[in-house]
Amino acid sequence: MSGIQARLNAISAVINYKPSHAPLNFNETKPTEIFGSNVFNEKVMKDRLPKAVFKSLQKTIELGQKLDPSIPDVVANTMKDWAIEKGATHFTHVFFPLTGMTAEKHDAFLVPDGKGGAIAEFSGKLLIQGEPDASSFPSGGLRSTFEARGYTAWDVTSPAYILENPNGTFLCIPTAFVSWSGEALDKKTPLLRSNQALNVQAKRVLKLFGVETKLPVTSFAGPEQEYFLIDRNFVFSRPDLLIAGRSLFGAKSAKGQEFEDQYFGVVPRRVLSFMMEVERELFKLGVPVKTRHNEVAPSQFEIAPIYEQGNLATDHNQMVMTTLRGVAKRYGMVCLLHEKPFAGINGSGKHLNYSVGNAELGSLFDPGDTPHENAQFLVFCAAAIRGLHKYGALLRATVATASNDHRLGANEAPPAIMSMYLGEQLADVFDQIKKGKLKASKQKGIMTIGVDTLPPLPMDPGDRNRTSPFAFTGNRFEFRAVGSSQSIGGSLVALNTIMSESLDFLATEIEKITKGDSKKLNAAVQTVLQKILKDHDTVVFNGDGYSEAWHKEAEKRGLPNLKTTPDALPILSSKPVIELFTKYGVLTEAELKSREEIYLEQYAKTINTEANLVVRMATTIIFPAAMRYQSELAACCTNLKAIGHDYKMAALQDVTDKLRNLQEAANKLDKLLEHEAKDAHAEAKYMCDKILPAMAEIRSYADSLEAVVADDLWSLPSYQEMLFIR
Ligand code: ADP
Ligand code: MG
Repeated sequence: MSGIQARLNAISAVINYKPSHAPLNFNETKPTEIFGSNVFNEKVMKDRLPKAVFKSLQKTIELGQKLDPSIPDVVANTMKDWAIEKGATHFTHVFFPLTGMTAEKHDAFLVPDGKGGAIAEFSGKLLIQGEPDASSFPSGGLRSTFEARGYTAWDVTSPAYILENPNGTFLCIPTAFVSWSGEALDKKTPLLRSNQALNVQAKRVLKLFGVETKLPVTSFAGPEQEYFLIDRNFVFSRPDLLIAGRSLFGAKSAKGQEFEDQYFGVVPRRVLSFMMEVERELFKLGVPVKTRHNEVAPSQFEIAPIYEQGNLATDHNQMVMTTLRGVAKRYGMVCLLHEKPFAGINGSGKHLNYSVGNAELGSLFDPGDTPHENAQFLVFCAAAIRGLHKYGALLRATVATASNDHRLGANEAPPAIMSMYLGEQLADVFDQIKKGKLKASKQKGIMTIGVDTLPPLPMDPGDRNRTSPFAFTGNRFEFRAVGSSQSIGGSLVALNTIMSESLDFLATEIEKITKGDSKKLNAAVQTVLQKILKDHDTVVFNGDGYSEAWHKEAEKRGLPNLKTTPDALPILSSKPVIELFTKYGVLTEAELKSREEIYLEQYAKTINTEANLVVRMATTIIFPAAMRYQSELAACCTNLKAIGHDYKMAALQDVTDKLRNLQEAANKLDKLLEHEAKDAHAEAKYMCDKILPAMAEIRSYADSLEAVVADDLWSLPSYQEMLFIR
């Protein structure tokens, strides 16, 4: 099949698309019945477990108490019976290695009974601990090969669930993944540790305010997931989309997103059907997805859940990504979670809405109604200000990947400078506190903590500043730099730990002044906040984060601007970051170094793969197409000469020049790829400084050829086709 035929077939497949399976019927089975139907949740446990076991387990889940070693056998057996009733034949420990993926290895419930038959078995031991052969997951030097095994440990706080396949179902048990010596090899372990640290420090602060709570204080997360949907026939004709998840070539479409006619527009029919099935699948798994809409770029969409406890939200977001990918196939499409699948139009992010609190207290970033509650709110907010100022570079490092680098600092995403948007009113309040004179009672424009009430802060201000990476939005912060394909785990761990450190600092400073005398609290808070603002409010910026002026201003303020992944990742093993994480028992120095190394390697491997693809595609797809066109033009010239025209064809000269440039650039990149660096960082740096520009150069020639070569010779589906034929 010639290239162009593949392209035409793809277009005709899109046009003639018909759904292949019966439509869903939400009237027959209501979403309320579906929701959580595949989850081993509180209700199932209450109905099925012996009362004492249920109570004991709930204490572990809700209050974070140690698991009673006598109960796993009972729980496992009940879980197995429930799963088998739902058609399960296998179980798997689900874990989240540092690749950012979800990993699973299935085992059958079935064991031979020794008499020629078999029985279904699942013990507490199997529930609690698994031993996947984990040697091929990245460990960054934490495991030597002779003890390559890691083990998975049941995360009691994230419920088990059933996944369906047309041929059966299986039981999934969320787990943490650690090495035999206890080092974290995954995204979950540090998240659980950081939640614990947060609980301790937040409670210290709450105690100063006389607030008690039975429940642990934890993080809450609401990740807004953006994605692209492209007809899979196009993807099969584009090796770059298929392998790299993004287009490495492609001339700009005549129409992009400049009409702003896509955002919140009517969702195309096939896409809406897809969304409904995604939601139905996620409802079954108890994922509270709520919002769906078109995003800014053509063929770009968003799905957002109601926020949940951070650990659960992280697991659920992984399920959202898996479900998006899986269901898209059933609708003849591919879901691209890449941060920048198409140059020149918006990429995809994952705004991470973050707060601290619990079910009893609500969000501690919520101002409240009384001066006393306001004071407490200001303390938590100030902790965030201080944290972001001290550890902005760390937060930047948690979103450092090859794919996210294309998006950060472009026109759709905040720059790599971590600043905080507070909104006018709140910024003004903090300004007053900073300027306020102690003991001087209420002066005009000066706020006295514990006496004055905050001005009403807009809960969800319509004029939200979208250019800020870290914005206060009424009862939470929105961290906007996370990439669409990333786990939110890494950023959550950093946020929790940064908050812990700052709350620790604040509690200690306030305690020093009050020495247990609660009457001194307000004055102490005033003093401590004033100092924090003097030292740290340079991180607050309410203006346009995209502007050139801000980049200059940020530099003056001494805020780091780590533009690329190789610049950002070394922060993970810097002294202050190691001290931060070890102090709160979240990550050890070895764990941090291994993470840095793994992420650097992933960065280099990603670019290396893309570069190989670029050379291959330039040589085997683009060059031949352009050369055929060149031959046609040359033949035309010869023919014209034959009938007496002395014809110099500008188009022929143009194509010939571009072809030569393309070939030279491809040869150059090919040579550049033969190279060995001394370590992971040098390799990443090389990829960033040498390979990426060489790839861009090839692309520029290829894209300029796409703009002149006869369309019927060009085999790669164009941006126009991929983005607008749905
Ligand atoms: P927008 O696109 O306007 O920013 P969305 O409704 O798409 O808003 O997403 C907002 C996200 O923030 C939702 O997931 C929502 O549940 C979450 N959210 C709301 N309140 C909190 C909170 N206190 N803590 C964490 N997340 C929250
Ligand atoms: Mg949204």
